Amino acid sequence: PVTAEATRAGVEVRLEGLRRQYGAVTALDGLDLTIKPGEFIALLGPSGCGKTTALRLLAGLEDADGGRVMVGDKDVTRLPTNKRDMGMVFQAYSLFPHMTARQNVAFGLRLRKIGETERNRRAGEMLELVGLSAQADRYAHQMSGGQQQRVALARALAIRPTVLLLDEPLSALDAKVRATLRDEIRRVQLEVGITTLFVTHDQEEALAVADRVGVMNAGRLEQLGPPTEVYSRPATPFVAQFVGLSNRIPATVNGSTADVLGAAVPVIPSSVDSGEGFALVRPEAVDLLPVTDGATGPLVGQVIATSFLGAVSRITVDLGPAGLVLAQMPTSQAGGFGSGSVARVTFRPDPVLVVKG
Ligand code: ATP
Repeated sequence: PVTAEATRAGVEVRLEGLRRQYGAVTALDGLDLTIKPGEFIALLGPSGCGKTTALRLLAGLEDADGGRVMVGDKDVTRLPTNKRDMGMVFQAYSLFPHMTARQNVAFGLRLRKIGETERNRRAGEMLELVGLSAQADRYAHQMSGGQQQRVALARALAIRPTVLLLDEPLSALDAKVRATLRDEIRRVQLEVGITTLFVTHDQEEALAVADRVGVMNAGRLEQLGPPTEVYSRPATPFVAQFVGLSNRIPATVNGSTADVLGAAVPVIPSSVDSGEGFALVRPEAVDLLPVTDGATGPLVGQVIATSFLGAVSRITVDLGPAGLVLAQMPTSQAGGFGSGSVARVTFRPDPVLVVKG
Protein backbone atom coordinates (compact mmCIF):
# COMPACT_ATOMS: atom_id res chain seq x y z
CA PRO A 1 0.00 0.00 0.00
CA VAL A 2 0.94 3.62 -0.56
CA THR A 3 1.71 5.35 2.70
CA ALA A 4 3.71 8.26 4.03
CA GLU A 5 6.43 7.41 1.52
CA ALA A 6 4.17 8.43 -1.35
CA THR A 7 3.13 11.88 -0.15
CA ARG A 8 4.18 14.35 2.44
CA ALA A 9 1.18 13.47 4.52
CA GLY A 10 -0.20 15.40 7.41
CA VAL A 11 0.55 19.09 6.90
CA GLU A 12 -1.62 21.71 8.60
CA VAL A 13 -3.12 24.35 6.29
CA ARG A 14 -4.33 27.72 7.54
CA LEU A 15 -6.28 30.35 5.68
CA GLU A 16 -6.06 33.54 7.73
CA GLY A 17 -8.40 36.44 7.05
CA LEU A 18 -8.41 35.79 3.31
CA ARG A 19 -10.01 38.53 1.23
CA ARG A 20 -10.74 38.71 -2.46
CA GLN A 21 -12.64 41.39 -4.30
CA TYR A 22 -13.81 41.33 -7.93
CA GLY A 23 -14.87 44.90 -8.66
CA ALA A 24 -17.92 45.50 -6.48
CA VAL A 25 -18.24 41.79 -5.58
CA THR A 26 -16.65 40.62 -2.33
CA ALA A 27 -15.94 36.97 -3.15
CA LEU A 28 -14.14 36.31 0.15
CA ASP A 29 -14.81 38.47 3.16
CA GLY A 30 -12.06 37.55 5.61
CA LEU A 31 -12.08 33.74 5.55
CA ASP A 32 -10.43 31.93 8.47
CA LEU A 33 -10.06 28.18 8.15
CA THR A 34 -7.63 25.71 9.68
CA ILE A 35 -7.39 22.27 8.09
CA LYS A 36 -5.74 19.85 10.48
CA PRO A 37 -2.97 17.52 9.31
CA GLY A 38 -4.52 14.76 7.20
CA GLU A 39 -7.99 16.18 7.57
CA PHE A 40 -10.61 16.15 4.79
CA ILE A 41 -12.64 19.36 4.78
CA ALA A 42 -15.53 19.97 2.41
CA LEU A 43 -16.50 23.55 1.65
CA LEU A 44 -20.19 23.62 0.88
CA GLY A 45 -22.35 26.47 -0.28
CA PRO A 46 -24.58 27.87 -2.98
CA SER A 47 -23.28 29.15 -6.29
CA GLY A 48 -21.33 32.36 -5.83
CA CYS A 49 -20.63 31.95 -2.09
CA GLY A 50 -16.86 32.04 -2.65
CA LYS A 51 -15.87 28.42 -2.19
CA THR A 52 -14.04 28.14 -5.53
CA THR A 53 -12.27 31.42 -4.81
CA ALA A 54 -11.08 30.00 -1.47
CA LEU A 55 -9.65 26.94 -3.24
CA ARG A 56 -8.03 29.04 -5.97
CA LEU A 57 -6.35 31.30 -3.42
CA LEU A 58 -5.07 28.28 -1.52
CA ALA A 59 -3.72 26.87 -4.78
CA GLY A 60 -2.14 30.17 -5.78
CA LEU A 61 -4.20 30.33 -8.96
CA GLU A 62 -5.28 33.78 -7.84
CA ASP A 63 -3.87 36.44 -5.55
CA ALA A 64 -5.43 37.40 -2.25
CA ASP A 65 -6.30 41.05 -1.62
CA GLY A 66 -5.61 40.45 2.06
CA GLY A 67 -4.81 37.71 4.53
CA ARG A 68 -2.36 34.80 4.49
CA VAL A 69 -2.11 31.19 3.36
CA MET A 70 0.04 29.05 5.67
CA VAL A 71 1.12 25.49 4.85
CA GLY A 72 2.73 24.04 7.96
CA ASP A 73 4.80 26.94 9.29
CA LYS A 74 5.51 28.30 5.81
CA ASP A 75 3.78 31.41 4.49
CA VAL A 76 3.00 30.60 0.85
CA THR A 77 0.80 33.65 0.15
CA ARG A 78 3.25 35.10 -2.38
CA LEU A 79 4.41 31.82 -3.90
CA PRO A 80 3.32 30.92 -7.44
CA THR A 81 1.20 27.79 -7.92
CA ASN A 82 4.06 25.61 -9.13
CA LYS A 83 6.04 26.31 -5.96
CA ARG A 84 3.19 25.30 -3.65
CA ASP A 85 3.25 21.58 -4.47
CA MET A 86 -0.48 21.07 -4.36
CA GLY A 87 -2.29 18.28 -6.16
CA MET A 88 -5.46 19.41 -7.91
CA VAL A 89 -8.46 17.69 -9.44
CA PHE A 90 -11.08 19.76 -11.22
CA GLN A 91 -14.37 18.97 -12.95
CA ALA A 92 -14.19 16.06 -15.37
CA TYR A 93 -12.29 15.96 -18.64
CA SER A 94 -9.05 17.55 -17.59
CA LEU A 95 -6.76 14.75 -18.84
CA PHE A 96 -4.35 15.40 -21.70
CA PRO A 97 -6.12 13.64 -24.58
CA HIS A 98 -2.96 12.70 -26.49
CA MET A 99 -1.45 10.88 -23.50
CA THR A 100 -2.26 7.50 -22.00
CA ALA A 101 -3.38 7.16 -18.40
CA ARG A 102 0.18 6.30 -17.38
CA GLN A 103 1.65 9.26 -19.28
CA ASN A 104 -0.93 11.57 -17.71
CA VAL A 105 -0.02 10.39 -14.23
CA ALA A 106 3.71 10.65 -14.96
CA PHE A 107 3.40 14.13 -16.50
CA GLY A 108 4.06 16.14 -13.35
CA LEU A 109 7.02 13.90 -12.55
CA ARG A 110 8.54 14.60 -15.95
CA LEU A 111 8.20 18.33 -15.28
CA ARG A 112 10.06 17.73 -12.04
CA LYS A 113 12.89 16.04 -13.98
CA ILE A 114 12.37 12.66 -12.38
CA GLY A 115 13.98 9.85 -14.43
CA GLU A 116 11.91 7.55 -16.60
CA THR A 117 12.26 4.40 -14.51
CA GLU A 118 11.20 6.14 -11.33
CA ARG A 119 8.42 7.96 -13.21
CA ASN A 120 6.96 4.74 -14.48
CA ARG A 121 7.27 3.05 -11.13
CA ARG A 122 5.42 5.84 -9.37
CA ALA A 123 2.79 6.17 -12.09
CA GLY A 124 2.15 2.43 -11.82
CA GLU A 125 1.88 2.67 -8.05
CA MET A 126 -0.62 5.55 -8.29
CA LEU A 127 -2.75 3.80 -10.91
CA GLU A 128 -2.85 0.77 -8.63
CA LEU A 129 -3.95 3.00 -5.76
CA VAL A 130 -6.97 4.16 -7.77
CA GLY A 131 -7.70 0.68 -9.12
CA LEU A 132 -6.76 1.35 -12.74
CA SER A 133 -3.65 -0.77 -13.35
CA ALA A 134 -5.40 -2.57 -16.19
CA GLN A 135 -6.22 0.70 -17.99
CA ALA A 136 -2.71 2.21 -17.82
CA ASP A 137 -2.26 2.32 -21.59
CA ARG A 138 -5.64 3.75 -22.48
CA TYR A 139 -6.27 7.24 -23.78
CA ALA A 140 -8.93 9.49 -22.21
CA HIS A 141 -11.51 8.75 -24.92
CA GLN A 142 -11.14 5.02 -24.16
CA MET A 143 -12.16 5.50 -20.52
CA SER A 144 -15.42 6.38 -18.76
CA GLY A 145 -15.80 9.73 -17.03
CA GLY A 146 -15.34 8.07 -13.65
CA GLN A 147 -12.15 6.33 -14.79
CA GLN A 148 -10.80 9.60 -16.16
CA GLN A 149 -11.35 11.26 -12.80
CA ARG A 150 -9.52 8.40 -11.09
CA VAL A 151 -6.58 9.03 -13.41
CA ALA A 152 -6.82 12.75 -12.58
CA LEU A 153 -6.66 11.84 -8.87
CA ALA A 154 -3.64 9.58 -9.47
CA ARG A 155 -1.97 12.38 -11.43
CA ALA A 156 -2.61 14.86 -8.62
CA LEU A 157 -1.10 12.53 -6.01
CA ALA A 158 1.88 11.38 -8.09
CA ILE A 159 3.85 14.56 -7.41
CA ARG A 160 3.64 13.79 -3.67
CA PRO A 161 1.83 17.01 -2.95
CA THR A 162 1.52 18.67 0.45
CA VAL A 163 -2.19 19.29 -0.02
CA LEU A 164 -4.93 17.80 -2.21
CA LEU A 165 -7.46 20.22 -3.71
CA LEU A 166 -10.66 18.91 -5.25
CA ASP A 167 -12.91 21.38 -7.09
CA GLU A 168 -16.28 19.76 -7.86
CA PRO A 169 -14.48 16.67 -9.23
CA LEU A 170 -17.69 14.65 -9.42
CA SER A 171 -20.12 17.15 -10.85
CA ALA A 172 -19.90 15.99 -14.48
CA LEU A 173 -20.58 12.34 -13.61
CA ASP A 174 -23.92 10.57 -13.35
CA ALA A 175 -25.41 9.88 -9.92
CA LYS A 176 -24.30 6.29 -9.48
CA VAL A 177 -20.71 6.83 -10.58
CA ARG A 178 -20.62 9.96 -8.45
CA ALA A 179 -21.46 8.07 -5.27
CA THR A 180 -18.93 5.30 -5.97
CA LEU A 181 -16.12 7.67 -6.88
CA ARG A 182 -16.86 9.87 -3.89
CA ASP A 183 -16.28 6.91 -1.57
CA GLU A 184 -13.21 5.93 -3.59
CA ILE A 185 -11.69 9.40 -3.23
CA ARG A 186 -12.21 9.21 0.52
CA ARG A 187 -10.63 5.73 0.71
CA VAL A 188 -7.56 6.92 -1.20
CA GLN A 189 -7.32 10.11 0.88
CA LEU A 190 -7.37 8.12 4.11
CA GLU A 191 -4.82 5.66 2.77
CA VAL A 192 -2.43 8.44 1.76
CA GLY A 193 -3.23 10.63 4.79
CA ILE A 194 -3.09 13.87 2.83
CA THR A 195 -4.64 17.15 4.01
CA THR A 196 -7.57 17.77 1.65
CA LEU A 197 -9.92 20.59 0.68
CA PHE A 198 -12.95 19.57 -1.35
CA VAL A 199 -15.28 22.15 -2.85
CA THR A 200 -18.86 21.18 -3.67
CA HIS A 201 -22.38 22.57 -3.83
CA ASP A 202 -23.80 19.08 -3.17
CA GLN A 203 -24.65 18.69 0.50
CA GLU A 204 -25.01 14.91 0.37
CA GLU A 205 -21.51 14.66 -1.09
CA ALA A 206 -20.03 16.95 1.55
CA LEU A 207 -21.75 15.20 4.46
CA ALA A 208 -20.78 11.75 3.18
CA VAL A 209 -17.01 12.18 2.84
CA ALA A 210 -15.70 14.99 4.99
CA ASP A 211 -14.23 14.97 8.50
CA ARG A 212 -15.62 18.48 8.82
CA VAL A 213 -17.93 20.49 6.61
CA GLY A 214 -17.59 24.25 6.20
CA VAL A 215 -20.81 25.91 5.10
CA MET A 216 -20.18 29.15 3.24
CA ASN A 217 -22.48 32.03 2.50
CA ALA A 218 -21.61 35.36 0.86
CA GLY A 219 -17.83 35.02 1.24
CA ARG A 220 -17.89 33.89 4.86
CA LEU A 221 -17.88 30.65 6.77
CA GLU A 222 -21.23 30.27 8.57
CA GLN A 223 -20.40 27.03 10.34
CA LEU A 224 -17.54 24.54 10.47
CA GLY A 225 -18.10 21.19 12.09
CA PRO A 226 -18.45 17.44 11.72
CA PRO A 227 -21.24 16.44 9.29
CA THR A 228 -23.59 15.24 12.04
CA GLU A 229 -23.20 18.51 13.93
CA VAL A 230 -23.80 20.71 10.89
CA TYR A 231 -26.89 18.67 10.08
CA SER A 232 -28.39 18.29 13.56
CA ARG A 233 -27.18 21.50 15.19
CA PRO A 234 -27.14 24.18 12.53
CA ALA A 235 -25.55 27.35 13.92
CA THR A 236 -27.52 29.75 11.75
CA PRO A 237 -30.82 29.86 9.85
CA PHE A 238 -28.85 29.80 6.60
CA VAL A 239 -27.15 26.51 7.52
CA ALA A 240 -30.44 24.97 8.68
CA GLN A 241 -32.08 25.82 5.39
CA PHE A 242 -29.17 25.07 3.07
CA VAL A 243 -28.21 21.70 4.58
CA GLY A 244 -31.12 19.29 4.50
CA LEU A 245 -34.81 20.08 4.38
CA SER A 246 -36.66 21.84 7.19
CA ASN A 247 -40.28 22.62 7.95
CA ARG A 248 -40.92 26.17 9.19
CA ILE A 249 -43.52 25.89 11.91
CA PRO A 250 -44.78 28.80 14.08
CA ALA A 251 -43.33 28.51 17.60
CA THR A 252 -42.89 30.43 20.82
CA VAL A 253 -39.57 30.11 22.67
CA ASN A 254 -39.61 29.92 26.43
CA GLY A 255 -36.21 29.26 27.98
CA SER A 256 -34.76 26.02 26.65
CA THR A 257 -37.95 24.78 25.04
CA ALA A 258 -40.29 25.99 22.35
CA ASP A 259 -44.02 25.65 22.17
CA VAL A 260 -44.62 24.33 18.66
CA LEU A 261 -48.39 24.31 18.08
CA GLY A 262 -48.90 23.15 21.65
CA ALA A 263 -46.08 20.58 21.68
CA ALA A 264 -42.96 21.23 23.79
CA VAL A 265 -39.72 20.81 21.81
CA PRO A 266 -36.15 21.49 23.07
CA VAL A 267 -34.31 24.30 21.27
CA ILE A 268 -30.74 24.66 20.00
CA PRO A 269 -28.85 27.39 21.93
CA SER A 270 -28.29 29.55 18.81
CA SER A 271 -32.07 30.04 18.49
CA VAL A 272 -33.87 33.33 19.13
CA ASP A 273 -33.80 34.07 22.87
CA SER A 274 -37.50 34.33 23.47
CA GLY A 275 -40.79 35.13 21.87
CA GLU A 276 -42.35 34.25 18.57
CA GLY A 277 -40.54 32.67 15.67
CA PHE A 278 -40.43 29.66 13.43
CA ALA A 279 -39.09 26.26 14.47
CA LEU A 280 -37.03 24.61 11.73
CA VAL A 281 -38.00 20.94 12.06
CA ARG A 282 -36.45 18.17 9.93
CA PRO A 283 -39.03 15.98 8.13
CA GLU A 284 -37.57 12.88 9.79
CA ALA A 285 -38.25 14.45 13.21
CA VAL A 286 -41.97 14.61 12.40
CA ASP A 287 -44.03 11.53 13.24
CA LEU A 288 -47.63 10.88 12.25
CA LEU A 289 -50.38 9.03 14.10
CA PRO A 290 -53.62 8.00 12.39
CA VAL A 291 -56.76 9.86 13.54
CA THR A 292 -60.00 7.93 13.14
CA ASP A 293 -62.13 9.28 16.01
CA GLY A 294 -62.80 12.74 14.59
CA ALA A 295 -60.33 14.44 16.99
CA THR A 296 -59.24 17.96 16.02
CA GLY A 297 -56.60 20.47 17.17
CA PRO A 298 -53.67 22.49 15.82
CA LEU A 299 -51.62 19.34 15.17
CA VAL A 300 -54.33 17.42 13.33
CA GLY A 301 -54.62 17.79 9.56
CA GLN A 302 -55.36 16.14 6.28
CA VAL A 303 -52.72 14.33 4.22
CA ILE A 304 -52.56 16.12 0.86
CA ALA A 305 -49.63 14.38 -0.82
CA THR A 306 -47.39 11.36 -0.45
CA SER A 307 -44.19 10.57 -2.29
CA PHE A 308 -42.45 7.23 -2.35
CA LEU A 309 -38.64 7.55 -2.39
CA GLY A 310 -37.75 3.87 -1.99
CA ALA A 311 -36.82 3.01 1.60
CA VAL A 312 -38.47 6.19 2.89
CA SER A 313 -41.65 8.07 2.02
CA ARG A 314 -42.57 11.73 2.43
CA ILE A 315 -46.03 12.77 3.47
CA THR A 316 -47.42 16.32 3.40
CA VAL A 317 -50.04 17.22 6.00
CA ASP A 318 -52.12 20.40 5.77
CA LEU A 319 -52.40 21.89 9.28
CA GLY A 320 -54.62 24.75 8.15
CA PRO A 321 -53.51 28.08 9.68
CA ALA A 322 -50.07 26.67 10.63
CA GLY A 323 -49.38 25.68 7.01
CA LEU A 324 -48.05 22.48 5.50
CA VAL A 325 -45.84 20.03 7.37
CA LEU A 326 -43.64 17.47 5.66
CA ALA A 327 -43.01 14.17 7.45
CA GLN A 328 -40.49 11.55 6.40
CA MET A 329 -40.69 7.95 7.59
CA PRO A 330 -39.72 4.44 6.60
CA THR A 331 -42.02 3.35 3.77
CA SER A 332 -43.01 0.33 5.86
CA GLN A 333 -44.71 2.74 8.32
CA ALA A 334 -46.28 5.03 5.74
CA GLY A 335 -49.08 2.75 4.55
CA GLY A 336 -51.87 4.26 6.66
CA PHE A 337 -51.30 7.84 5.47
CA GLY A 338 -52.66 8.01 1.94
CA SER A 339 -53.96 11.27 0.45
CA GLY A 340 -57.21 12.34 2.15
CA SER A 341 -56.53 10.51 5.41
CA VAL A 342 -56.39 12.45 8.68
CA ALA A 343 -53.23 12.40 10.80
CA ARG A 344 -51.91 13.85 14.04
CA VAL A 345 -48.43 15.39 13.87
CA THR A 346 -45.99 14.71 16.72
CA PHE A 347 -42.38 15.87 17.04
CA ARG A 348 -39.41 13.79 18.11
CA PRO A 349 -37.54 15.32 21.05
CA ASP A 350 -34.61 16.37 18.81
CA PRO A 351 -33.55 19.98 19.56
CA VAL A 352 -34.66 22.44 16.88
CA LEU A 353 -33.43 25.84 15.75
CA VAL A 354 -36.00 28.59 16.19
CA VAL A 355 -35.53 31.61 13.91
CA LYS A 356 -37.19 34.99 13.71
CA GLY A 357 -40.08 35.34 11.28
P1 ATP B 1 -19.86 28.24 -8.06
O1 ATP B 1 -20.30 27.01 -7.34
O2 ATP B 1 -20.92 28.81 -8.94
O3 ATP B 1 -18.53 28.14 -8.72
P2 ATP B 1 -18.59 29.54 -5.83
O4 ATP B 1 -19.21 29.44 -4.51
O5 ATP B 1 -17.46 28.66 -6.12
O6 ATP B 1 -19.71 29.37 -6.94
P3 ATP B 1 -16.89 31.70 -6.60
O7 ATP B 1 -16.61 31.11 -7.93
O8 ATP B 1 -15.82 31.62 -5.59
O9 ATP B 1 -18.20 31.05 -6.00
O10 ATP B 1 -17.33 33.21 -6.80
C1 ATP B 1 -17.61 34.11 -5.73
C2 ATP B 1 -18.08 35.43 -6.28
O11 ATP B 1 -17.04 36.07 -7.00
C3 ATP B 1 -19.24 35.31 -7.26
O12 ATP B 1 -20.11 36.39 -7.09
C4 ATP B 1 -18.56 35.38 -8.61
O13 ATP B 1 -19.45 35.90 -9.58
C5 ATP B 1 -17.41 36.30 -8.34
N1 ATP B 1 -16.24 36.00 -9.21
C6 ATP B 1 -15.52 34.85 -9.18
N2 ATP B 1 -14.51 34.90 -10.07
C7 ATP B 1 -14.61 36.09 -10.70
C8 ATP B 1 -13.86 36.76 -11.72
N3 ATP B 1 -12.79 36.19 -12.29
N4 ATP B 1 -14.27 37.98 -12.11
C9 ATP B 1 -15.33 38.58 -11.54
N5 ATP B 1 -16.07 38.02 -10.56
C10 ATP B 1 -15.73 36.81 -10.14
